[in-house]
Amino acid sequence: MTSDCLFCKIISGDIPATIRYEDDRVIAFDDIDPKAPCHFLIIPKKHIATALDLTPEDNELIGHIYQVAGKIARDSGFADAGYRVVNNCNKAGGQVVWHLHFHLLGGRNMTWPPG
Ligand code: 5GP
Ligand code: ZN
Repeated sequence: MTSDCLFCKIISGDIPATIRYEDDRVIAFDDIDPKAPCHFLIIPKKHIATALDLTPEDNELIGHIYQVAGKIARDSGFADAGYRVVNNCNKAGGQVVWHLHFHLLGGRNMTWPPG
């Protein structure tokens, strides 16, 4: 828990969010400004600022996050159609919240390349 971190405050319940999934290591909740019909953020409960701050001890955690993404996609009904998982890293990568998060986007056809 980092006291000035928005997503740590969502984890602690100090800031409300619509939680879609939770276990001992991660939570997933609705993005406040959705970019697709389904747009969830999957985050580790451990405060990690960016993907660049990952260490070997986090390897299993990242695999778990991708499995959670697949579970949410199946439960939400867009797994077979297809979906996108995105991590924005640092400013030029589009990151604005400094707690590692993975966007799970589904419910529409994605375009490539992203903006
Ligand atoms: P980034 O640009 O850092 O990859 O993504 C941050 C995401 O967090 C954005 O998609 C933004 O809409 C979302 N976000 C920012 N503030 C809040 C908030 O207070 N609650 C929720 N649920 N999402 C937020
Ligand atoms: Zn945090």
